[in-house]
Amino acid sequence: MTSVHQHLLNANFHSTRLKGKVAIVTASSEGIGFSIAKRLGNEGASVIISSRKEENVKKAMESLRNEGINVEGIVCHVSNADHRKLLFETAKSKFGGFDIIVSNAAVNPSVSPILETEEKVWDKIFDVNVKSAWLLAKEAYPELIKRGGGNIVFVASIAAYQPMNPLGAYSVSKTTLLGLTKAIASEIVHDNIRVNCVAPGVVATKFASAITSSEAGKEKSLSIVPMKRFGKPDEIASAVAFLVSDDASYITGETLVVAGGTYAHL
Ligand code: NAP
Repeated sequence: MTSVHQHLLNANFHSTRLKGKVAIVTASSEGIGFSIAKRLGNEGASVIISSRKEENVKKAMESLRNEGINVEGIVCHVSNADHRKLLFETAKSKFGGFDIIVSNAAVNPSVSPILETEEKVWDKIFDVNVKSAWLLAKEAYPELIKRGGGNIVFVASIAAYQPMNPLGAYSVSKTTLLGLTKAIASEIVHDNIRVNCVAPGVVATKFASAITSSEAGKEKSLSIVPMKRFGKPDEIASAVAFLVSDDASYITGETLVVAGGTYAHL
């Protein structure tokens, strides 16, 4: 990575590409979601951040406000219908509506070979990672229509293309998001709403700490990454910012793989 490139990623990236837009980002009090909120905010959007724990939301909101970002925050466990309702209401009451929704939440409650995965674990993974993503899009749709268009982005994973063992159920939930992206995109293309997805490679966040904290985990996961390093949350955020901006105005139904060159094909 050149020093100029590094500087751009580290810098409080300020452009006006998203000026006047309002963005909702789920699971955004830390990790990739936080970076996405920061990047969209730094590009001029007003942002609603959310996650399950109030103290995390408050801390993240303070940090974004310190960067000069116009941000509000609310507790939202994405599989809770009342929380999602409040999330949308907050966007309406604080910012008059929203134009962008980034569905970023996912869980992986336990690891096991896929045929040994307990039904309740499977249900939890699909409830949070897939059903909530679909519901967020479904519930956001009428508001996006009112705004005359907008953008929906799902956060999948490189595991959507090549299941990670022993993360089979999680991987399949992410493969489902690639299909969900295409299904929704084609149905609402005439509403001036674009629907896209990003598929990050392994990014060193809390979520991936089981992989990134051990030498054996690092070696195994980097063996398929041509760039031989993990991704950074800001590198996923910049891809999302591109997809929701007018720079991607002719792109819908696509998944952008951000994974250091890792082979990705279904
Ligand atoms: P992370 O650093 O662990 O952050 C997770 C965030 O999600 C936190 O803000 C957490 O806050 C919130 N959260 C967790 N469960 C939630 C729920 N049910 N509803 C609402 N908020 C919730 O995770 P991450 O690595 O940034 O992962 C973000 C997304 O990227 C996920 O979809 C993940 O599958 C995807 N991804 C990650 C990697 C990777 O290597 N890190 C690779 C590919 C894809 P609270 O605890 O306050 O809820």
